[in-house]
Amino acid sequence: MTDTAPTFHPESEAVLAYAAGGLDEAHAVLVATHLALCPRCRAEVARLEAVGGALTASIEPAPMSAGALAATLARLDEPGAEPEPSAAVAYDDETLHAIPAPLRDYLGGNLSGLPWKWRGPTIRELPLSIGSGTARATLIRVRPGAAIPAHTHAGTEATLVLRGAYQDATGRFGRGDVETASSDLDHRPVATADSECICFSVIDGPLSLTGPIGRLLNPFLKI
Ligand SMILES: [Zn+2]
Repeated sequence: MTDTAPTFHPESEAVLAYAAGGLDEAHAVLVATHLALCPRCRAEVARLEAVGGALTASIEPAPMSAGALAATLARLDEPGAEPEPSAAVAYDDETLHAIPAPLRDYLGGNLSGLPWKWRGPTIRELPLSIGSGTARATLIRVRPGAAIPAHTHAGTEATLVLRGAYQDATGRFGRGDVETASSDLDHRPVATADSECICFSVIDGPLSLTGPIGRLLNPFLKI
């Protein structure tokens, strides 16, 4: 494994909202999963929570925020710590190494045994049920060197790389990196040739595919 600290982080507004417990569950899981791989953002969330704790302590006792709990759980999964298998699922090494704890228990099984849906010959997707909000959470597997169809989206798409890497017009995104694409970015990510790429994507609004392959796939992705 060639784990290095991530280069691309969630937007600072998202990290702040996470620390304040103000993110919907799907986005909170994405940030918590990034935190498990990113010492810099863990330190930032701890700093924000310390500030928030000092403020609330001076007002009145308050219950711990959802973000604080998730962050605490994420810290338990810091690199170097031995992954704790869930009581319900006996995770295999591939799943333990690829999927940090904050996301793992939403899978319900090992990567090799999940009900992936093919979206063409090179892409598989797994919609994940996370929380009751409108955000769409999906795990995506792309074969080495394959392109993800060009697409835009009505809302913002946050993509966290869990294995391998992909490249688009804005840069190269490897394990732990988060790309936040607004609705006006028509991007065409391509997995690097050396490895399969697994990403966790959370999209605010409906997806609209723009390329010729995208138009073909669009009916499937409207679900
Ligand atoms: Zn970070």
